Amino acid sequence: MNDDPTRQARQQMVERQLRARAISDERVLAAMGRVPRHLFVPESYRHEAYDDHPLPIGRGQTISQPYMVALMTQALGLRGGERVLEIGTGSGYQAAILAELAAEVISLERLPELAEQARQHLRLVGADNVEVQVADGTRGWPARSPYQGIVVTAGAPAPPRPLLEQLAPQGRLVVPVGDRFTQILEIHTRTGPRGYQVRRDTACRFVDLVGEHGWPET
Ligand code: SAH
Repeated sequence: MNDDPTRQARQQMVERQLRARAISDERVLAAMGRVPRHLFVPESYRHEAYDDHPLPIGRGQTISQPYMVALMTQALGLRGGERVLEIGTGSGYQAAILAELAAEVISLERLPELAEQARQHLRLVGADNVEVQVADGTRGWPARSPYQGIVVTAGAPAPPRPLLEQLAPQGRLVVPVGDRFTQILEIHTRTGPRGYQVRRDTACRFVDLVGEHGWPET
């Protein structure tokens, strides 16, 4: 693996884009250093795979900036035994990072072509603890609930109620909330049957979360 030229690019990404910006969870940093991000982006963008920005993945969707993936993952506070739900599979990259850090990942994508492509990417990197389903993720995936962590990788007008309800005790929902142009990353922790605590982190910009408890389709 020492002659893998992408390894150095990944290590640089980890040091300059993540560690330098207060990503401090060593498990997250190690996972970001392992998962071959270039295998999740279209051929034509492969040379930019480790750059400090999001990239198009087709159907008007994007793979998030590495820093945003790390920040959202760190906010979940995973230790290794969790079942995690992701809304917005996209390329499958965020799911592959989660797969390194939790026991089980269920990832929901509304666009069937993207879901199929993501399954191929995940197979290629051997992430066999991820299950990708085509569904409106704003409804969550009750069959496998509760989840110790839920991450929404699209921008929501408000935290979707079903997702809050599918959190385990002390579970965390990480979700960008705002209008269609800019959002604030919110972290909701379930403190009781009806109790939640919310922390607001950084401003961010995601593509729309489209669905019953998200934005209407335009
Ligand atoms: N996490 C992805 C990037 C996500 S881009 C990655 O690592 O590459 C946001 C994705 O959310 C898009 O693929 C979009 O189709 C999907 N999406 C939007 N609304 C959704 C919904 N209600 N349910 C499931 N997926 C949704």
